[in-house]
Amino acid sequence: MQTKYFEFTSCDAPEFLDAARALREGLLVAFPTETVYGLGANALDRKAVQSIYEAKGRPGDNPLIVHIADLEMLKPLVTEIKPDALKLISAYWPGPLTIIMKKTAVVPDITTGGLDTVAVRMPDNHIALELIRRAGVPVAAPSANRSGRPSPTMTKHVLEDLNGRISYIIDGGPCKVGVESTVIDMTVEPAVILRPGGITPLMIKQVIGSVELDRSIVDRIAVDRPKSPGMKYKHYAPKAEVFVVSGDYGSIVNWLNKAVSEDRKAGIKSVILAAKEHIQEYGLSDAMSYGSINDASEVASNIFRLFRECDRIGAEKIYVEAIPKEGIGLAVMNRIEKAAGGRIIQAFD
Ligand code: AMP
Ligand code: MG
Repeated sequence: MQTKYFEFTSCDAPEFLDAARALREGLLVAFPTETVYGLGANALDRKAVQSIYEAKGRPGDNPLIVHIADLEMLKPLVTEIKPDALKLISAYWPGPLTIIMKKTAVVPDITTGGLDTVAVRMPDNHIALELIRRAGVPVAAPSANRSGRPSPTMTKHVLEDLNGRISYIIDGGPCKVGVESTVIDMTVEPAVILRPGGITPLMIKQVIGSVELDRSIVDRIAVDRPKSPGMKYKHYAPKAEVFVVSGDYGSIVNWLNKAVSEDRKAGIKSVILAAKEHIQEYGLSDAMSYGSINDASEVASNIFRLFRECDRIGAEKIYVEAIPKEGIGLAVMNRIEKAAGGRIIQAFD
């Protein structure tokens, strides 16, 4: 299959209208959102959705998020919009918040991995919104990467993974947020966050009073019977073994310098992903900066790109300095810990 790639110029450009039509008619289109690039298909078309799973190599029981451009598109998809859900929608849509509600028969089972609920969000990106509007259908879209690879934050990443497997790639520049949306289950009381993301637990509490975090976010342990099917899969991982290293400044720096020099002796290529405030403590060729330790949103927008960069240079081990789990730092550490599996290190002096 020939993948047509183009840079977005205007909503009336012929190639943009072609992509919107292709999307409505059942083909796959990768498009920018504020979180990461999405791989879109007509959410109401079983065959189109099936081809998402094939292109990504994604397990069929891992449900997709349905993207909409306005509230009129939401109504036919769900049995009811609870008052708290409506409050969150008013506060944070368009934005990186995915809401799980009870689905109607309009939504095919394949889109929801056989569940009787559907995950919906309205992305905060004018290209995405206009594409969905022009396609005229809700768009099922997981991240536009091969299953198990880090999510794409630039079209370069989409091309690496999906060139020749999908019909269109629309380039809208790098994604602002960099980690996937927050997923909140509003079918239970109190509501539960299944995946941390750009909208923080505090932001949600400010609107609906209370919210719980799923155990898998707090405990870091693998869940046997996950609430959200996607949780049981290893996500976001580069090819290298990832280690999370936490501790105070001096301990982290000592531990990492020792680890990297032992790796070098053993002929293992390792890379440190470090705060820019620490980078001068490491050998020039040993470390890359993910941004400021005091700015989790900067780390969010860089982390998946750096994972891919480590793959490109053939890193076998990646050591990541932990950041505080505050604000969007919770989402960033969730992705890093998932990539690390159980490899979490506490550095002491
Ligand atoms: P991705 O498409 O890769 O961004 O992942 C979507 C995430 O949302 C996965 O972790 C899914 O398991 C989760 N998800 C989607 N739909 C549902 C649903 N109906 N119920 C629970 N979790 C869902
Ligand atoms: Mg994904």
